[in-house]
Amino acid sequence: MKNTRRDFLKTFAATSLTVPMLSALQVEAAFPEKKLGVALVGLGYYATYQLAPALEKTTNCRLVGIVTGTPEKAETWKKKYNIPDKNIYNYQNFDQIANNPDIDVVYVVLPNSMHHEFTLRAAKAGKHVICEKPMAVSVKEAEEMIAACKAANVQLAIGYRLHYEPFTNEVMRLAKDKDFGKVTFVEASFGFPLRDLKAWRLNPKLSGGGPMMDVGIYALNAARYATGEEPISVTAQTVKTRPDIYLPGIEETLFWQMKFPSGAVSNHTTTYNSGLQRLYVGYENGNLEMSPAYDYGPLKGKTSKGEMKLLIVYHQVLEMEGICDAIINNKPNITPGEEGLRDMKLIEAIFKAAKTGKEVKV
Ligand code: NAD
Repeated sequence: MKNTRRDFLKTFAATSLTVPMLSALQVEAAFPEKKLGVALVGLGYYATYQLAPALEKTTNCRLVGIVTGTPEKAETWKKKYNIPDKNIYNYQNFDQIANNPDIDVVYVVLPNSMHHEFTLRAAKAGKHVICEKPMAVSVKEAEEMIAACKAANVQLAIGYRLHYEPFTNEVMRLAKDKDFGKVTFVEASFGFPLRDLKAWRLNPKLSGGGPMMDVGIYALNAARYATGEEPISVTAQTVKTRPDIYLPGIEETLFWQMKFPSGAVSNHTTTYNSGLQRLYVGYENGNLEMSPAYDYGPLKGKTSKGEMKLLIVYHQVLEMEGICDAIINNKPNITPGEEGLRDMKLIEAIFKAAKTGKEVKV
C-alpha cells in the first residue's frame, strides 16, 4: 500500500498544476494512511500566508497543532483550521508537546535567534524538526541543533524550499551533467526594500544580521547548488548609508565574492535598499539566467538553449511532502541541518571578511 501511495504521490506532485487539481482529501480517500501531524511554531507572515495554506494541500502531512504567544491568534487559527485545544501551546508550556501523539513534526517559523532554542526543545520532546532559514545565528548554534536532533533520533530539515522545486533542480542538474561544460562564473543577488522599520529583522539580537541572514542566504545557497561545489575563500564589503536605521550588527548592503576549487568565481549583492532577485550562471559553452530566481514563484529563466519551460509548483507543498516522505520512510531528507550549517559557516566567514577587509579561507 505504501509504495503504491508513494508512487501516486510522486506523479501527483509532478503534475499537480498541469491537470485539474485533486484535493488532498480525494488523495487521502484513495490512499488512506496516517498523515504526519505538523505543529507550526510562530504564527507570523510566513506561517500564516505560506505554510498553513500549503498544509491544506499536502498529502502526507497536515496541520494539527500551533504554538503561539498571542492568545487571539490561537482563537483565529483554532476556528480556521479546526485545531483542538489540546494541540494549542504557548512558548512556556511548549515542552508538554512531548506527551502529544497527534504531533509528529514541529516546524519552527520564529525570528532567527529563536530557532536554536525551539529546535532543541522540540528534539528533546522527541519530535522531528523543520526549521526555517537561516537555521541559526551562529555556527555554534547550528552544530548544537544537529547534535540535539541526532541524540534524540529525530530528523532535522531546514526550510530550503527551492531544493524541492523544478527550476532549482534544473540548475543543480546542469552543474552535474555539464550540458554547457563546467561552471566558470556565478552572479547571484537577492535584496528587497525593507519598509517595516520596527521589524525584528532590524534587531541584531533577534535577526543575527541584516539582509544576508534574511535573503542573501538564498544567493549564497544558489552559488553552491549552481556550481555543485563548496567555496574555498570569500571576500566582502559593506556599504551603510543610514546608520540610524541599520544599527551595528545589521548590514544595509553587502557585496561578497567567492572562489571555488574548480576555479569558478562568484559575485553577490544583498540589500535592504532595493528589490533585486537574479541568478546568472556562466558555463564554458553557455549560460543560464533566472529572474525571479528565489521567490515563491512563478520563477522564470532561460539558458543558451532557450526559455526554461518547467512546472510552476507550490514550493512549500513540495518541500513539506519531501521532508515528510523522508520521515515516513526513515531516509535522509535532502535539506538536512548539515546543509544549513554549511551556509552558516560561509555567512560567518563573509561577515569576518567584511569586517577585516581581508580574504577569508573556509
Ligand atoms: P514574522 O515577523 O512575520 O513572524 C515571526 C513570528 O514570531 C510572529 O508570529 C511573532 O509573534 C513571533 N515571535 C515570537 N517571539 C518574538 C519576538 N521576540 N519578536 C518578534 N516576533 C516574535 O516573520 P516571518 O517573515 O514569518 O519569518 C519567520 C522566519 O521564517 C524567519 O526565520 C524567516 O527567515 C523565515 N522565512 C522564510 C521564508 C522562506 O521562504 N523560506 C519566507 C519568510 C520567512
